[in-house]
Amino acid sequence: MRKITMSIGRREVEILVLRENDPSNGNEETTIVAEYDNDEAVIEAAGKIIDQGEWRIRDGVLDDEPTQRYMLDIAQRREVELVVMGEALQYSQVQMLTKVLTLFWGRLHDHRMWNIKRVTIPARDEFNTKSGQNKRGQEIPLQARFKVFPTAFRETGEYRDCLPCTWLHGTIIHEATHNCLEEWLTILWNKDPDRLGWRTLSDAFIRMPGGFETRYVNLHPEQCPTSYARLQPDDDRADSVVAFLARGHLHPRRWECVSRVLYPQDMELLSCSFAELPRRLPELGTFTFRCQPPIEDEDASFRPMQQGDGTKPPPHPVYDLTEYLSLHANGDPG
Ligand SMILES: [Zn+2]
Repeated sequence: MRKITMSIGRREVEILVLRENDPSNGNEETTIVAEYDNDEAVIEAAGKIIDQGEWRIRDGVLDDEPTQRYMLDIAQRREVELVVMGEALQYSQVQMLTKVLTLFWGRLHDHRMWNIKRVTIPARDEFNTKSGQNKRGQEIPLQARFKVFPTAFRETGEYRDCLPCTWLHGTIIHEATHNCLEEWLTILWNKDPDRLGWRTLSDAFIRMPGGFETRYVNLHPEQCPTSYARLQPDDDRADSVVAFLARGHLHPRRWECVSRVLYPQDMELLSCSFAELPRRLPELGTFTFRCQPPIEDEDASFRPMQQGDGTKPPPHPVYDLTEYLSLHANGDPG
């Protein structure tokens, strides 16, 4: 076993590295594919795993103290940590977060779908290249975490100007859906994609209001629950769940899909409470990695033959959504 010091973000992190057959050092360990003696390879593989799992490093907030930290009691033995990095939240806002997550938990057909351990509130807003506005939230399912941006707390009026709940309420459900239900709803959405209007373009892109380009297009945008839901199938799913839980208008086929994973009514009366935690973030744990040497590639000399005469195919055209739909109505693009 040896120690390597590596820098991640603004922090030096010490990791312990084991050979393939070394005895365990008693810590939780992760296997990486890298030669034990190759510092560069070990650091690269270990760095990827730490970056994926340690949100504090990823967000570059390690050296900042959070403004507030809470433990939200969602259900028995089910807690969610809330970490606020910028402006302090009001009591009623923390209460709202707890209530909405408790409601979401209470509606799940199967609690094994739950994938939320932490909600973080960044200090600053970020631009959304899909909507062309500030981001309200962002899901990070690999870390069982989502972010709610300051904009979502400031926003007044109805969620996306059309569903009967606040922006904060809707944002929490939208991100909770990405984290917990995406996998299940995707299966239901894809069962019969034609009925829900989604199509994947093979020869064109759609440019979203914020500039992001996608191959997805919905041919029946008027059936989507919000204008944001028209941009991508995953956001259609997330906003459909907001409409379902807030009892807003939802197309019957979408209602049918969502009702397979969520109950339309509260199943039990759930208590909800939260407690303040010390503002200091817990120390990073010890990282132990077990090296598994890469498999020799016997066919390393094999390279696929270059196809064609080497000329590049012409780039695919990019359309705005309305432009594409009107061309499609006239039978123009595929
Ligand atoms: Zn989304």
